[in-house]
Amino acid sequence: MLSGKVSVVTGASRGIGKAVALKLASLGSAVAVVYHGNSDKAEETVREITEKYSVKAISYKADVSSYEETKELARKIKEDFTRIDILVNNAGIVKDGLIAMMSEESFSSVIDTNLKGTFNMIRHTVPMMLRQKEGRIVNISSVSAIIGNPGQANYSASKAGIIGLTKSAAKELAAKNITVNAVAPGFIRTDMTENIGEDNPLVQMIPLKRFGKADEVADAVAFLATSSYITGEVLKVDGGIAM
Ligand code: NAD
Repeated sequence: MLSGKVSVVTGASRGIGKAVALKLASLGSAVAVVYHGNSDKAEETVREITEKYSVKAISYKADVSSYEETKELARKIKEDFTRIDILVNNAGIVKDGLIAMMSEESFSSVIDTNLKGTFNMIRHTVPMMLRQKEGRIVNISSVSAIIGNPGQANYSASKAGIIGLTKSAAKELAAKNITVNAVAPGFIRTDMTENIGEDNPLVQMIPLKRFGKADEVADAVAFLATSSYITGEVLKVDGGIAM
């Protein structure tokens, strides 16, 4: 389905990003595995992709919050793969805290990684998609953007910003056959949620009564990455918590 295509996935060394990278590879896409800190884990993702699916995969270290680093990243990926068909902006961080006590650093760093990082990656990869007259962009938002969450003013704002960015970019790029969509996960079992136990009262608020799995988010990302007539959409993968 995606053979001959090239996907770029940020934060692909673990969690949802890794599941997305593997899913797109399983559909035949080559994958640029972008990571920030853990090169061993990124290499593990690359190895799993190449061994299981026999497609090309290369890892790249980059901080998505840096305009210059992401510019250089896009250049290197172009050099290695010659094209970019699918961009999945998955890299993200949380620095939770009550707003009355939140530091400026906690606010700015979450906005810089989650929101500006998504802009940076789109900014530097879209010129290639424009030349190709085709592209698929999927941004990972959160239900926290839609319904808010106490202790997550910074995170909710960053993820709500991603929804606005998604819709503006979708309108701007539609004429060039580039679709831009977002996925809004609820509670997904990854390193990011390791401190929330299954006995947490939050779980009882989820209609499906369980955390989601990274693979379940990856399925939604792959759906949007292979759809040709959906753009500007926000697809919740949340067990019903935000309906
Ligand atoms: P995770 O912490 O396991 O993964 C986040 C990834 O982003 C890591 O690989 C990390 O290295 C990378 N990253 C962080 N800062 C970066 C930077 N500056 N540059 C490049 N990469 C960077 O968490 P996850 O649960 O897999 O989260 C993936 C995405 O899904 C995030 O955007 C997160 O906000 C979103 N999300 C997660 C949940 C959940 O319940 N787990 C819910 C809603 C949204």
